[in-house]
Amino acid sequence: MHPTVTGGPLKYFYRLEQLHFHWLSEHSINGVKFPMEIHFVHVRSDLEVSEALNKRDGLAILSVFCNVQTELNEDQQKASEEIMQHIPMLLRTGHRISGVLLNLSKLLSPKRNSYFTYLGSLTSPECNEVVVWIIFDNPIYISDAQYRLFGKVGVGRHNFRSQQKINHHQVFQPPDAFITTPKAILIVSDVLKLMTQFFRNVTRFVVKGLKSRL
Ligand SMILES: [Zn+2]
Repeated sequence: MHPTVTGGPLKYFYRLEQLHFHWLSEHSINGVKFPMEIHFVHVRSDLEVSEALNKRDGLAILSVFCNVQTELNEDQQKASEEIMQHIPMLLRTGHRISGVLLNLSKLLSPKRNSYFTYLGSLTSPECNEVVVWIIFDNPIYISDAQYRLFGKVGVGRHNFRSQQKINHHQVFQPPDAFITTPKAILIVSDVLKLMTQFFRNVTRFVVKGLKSRL
């Protein structure tokens, strides 16, 4: 029942398990960081989570940067509201919401065919090297006021892993290889949860895929 993604560097279908936020961003582009980064964590459809954590391509994480602007135009406003309207209900660890329809075509990067990809690790312990990263380089926008809300989350501290050396990792920028994602997802139970604890402790949330595809 989970919505799935595939295409581009993904050789399998991957089902959405959870999404969370980092502020500041964990990735940078040419050394430049963004105020926020949203991670859509997916697990290879043919694997259980425990198996996926031991496979080189067990997880696929779609990453969308958020940039901050003093004022948003109408389209940017609509896109950011897609997620920001829920944040006041999620300020403390354990807060949950359900029955939420998220329009992914607004929440994902405006240019779905423009991204960097590499094989890397989770950014929280145990930092398993099991992730196909897809980093969209065109950000979505939130306002100053919306960004300030994130300072009220949990104990208000930043929650990003510091930049790592690139080591053996090769980063690719495929030309025009679209990622296929659902147009919208319906969160029928549990959550949309903020990353205030390590990945493995984050409660999985149940989502239901809608049939329509972009
Ligand atoms: Zn993350």
